[in-house]
Amino acid sequence: MTDVSTVASMAASLPRLLLLTTGGTIAGRGEASTKVNTYCAGALSGDALLAAVPELAQLACIEENAIASVDSADLQLAHWTALVQRIRTAFADDPALTGVVITHGTNTLEETAWLLQLLIDDPRPVVLVGAMRPATALSADGPLNLYQAVQVAVNPQARERGVLAVLDGEVHAARAVTKRATQGVGAFRSVGQGPLGWVDDAGVHWSAVPRRRWTPFAHLALPSVWPQVAILHGCVEPPAAFLPALLSSGVCGLVFTGTGAGQLSAVEREALARWDGPLPLMLRANRCGSGPVHRCVDHAHLGLLPAGTLSPQKARVLLLLALIAKLSRAELEAVLLKLGLAAV
Ligand code: ASP
Repeated sequence: MTDVSTVASMAASLPRLLLLTTGGTIAGRGEASTKVNTYCAGALSGDALLAAVPELAQLACIEENAIASVDSADLQLAHWTALVQRIRTAFADDPALTGVVITHGTNTLEETAWLLQLLIDDPRPVVLVGAMRPATALSADGPLNLYQAVQVAVNPQARERGVLAVLDGEVHAARAVTKRATQGVGAFRSVGQGPLGWVDDAGVHWSAVPRRRWTPFAHLALPSVWPQVAILHGCVEPPAAFLPALLSSGVCGLVFTGTGAGQLSAVEREALARWDGPLPLMLRANRCGSGPVHRCVDHAHLGLLPAGTLSPQKARVLLLLALIAKLSRAELEAVLLKLGLAAV
């Protein structure tokens, strides 16, 4: 028989994790177990998520803290500030903490992962996890995803790999992970490189050697009000009034989701050339979903920098931080190069 003191000493010897909850489908509640598309995201507490996976007690001692309880489409920049501050404080105050796991809606999980990758400078793992089916659904994927995220967070080899996302038995790097399907538990891909690893009965398997990390905004303090950065999606004959309207609205940053390899239309290039106000900090990404955007003279003289292989939504995250850090265009270009993003 296991007595109370044995249980207590077993718990004390387990790795300690911080679980931060933000909402999403992983904490979603539907009216019936057969509902997989209609439900209230973020309805369940962190305690309820942990209680659904009693097996976690064998893996780690987990402290839970709520940052938000929203559908991730409704995540606010202020939530990002709170999340970053909480993680930085946890790592700074608690050298014995093994890592952080974050439950998150899948719709914008990749943006939060990339944001943290650029801001959190610590070798300990930060692992994001979500689910495509609400917690109340038949065959909900959240409990297993959460279990596997914790397996990854306590795996010693997860250190120094940057921010990770664990879904459907795959471990993705923040830089590459993206949601590629609106439905189905296998909705996530690592564009251009494949997953960093897998989780199964035998444990966590790592497929790639981690690249050396650089955290460009490790010491950046986040403001209470963030700059405005818009994304403009390229298409055939974009309405001529859109870009001038955005420029007049005073946006500080602009990401173009250009056609092909990040091409702007003549209408857009002319609007930029005609604009006589201060130009926002601008990046050209692409709408193809993979492949690089290179430097191009025609676009460079209009003040546009290429986003390399960054998706438009991740390019926007980088621009937000660059603006908060008050980087010049030349300094942003240097950051892109050092991150290995800008192909010259
Ligand atoms: N609506 C959800 C969200 O919060 C989708 C999900 O989590 O799968 O992003």
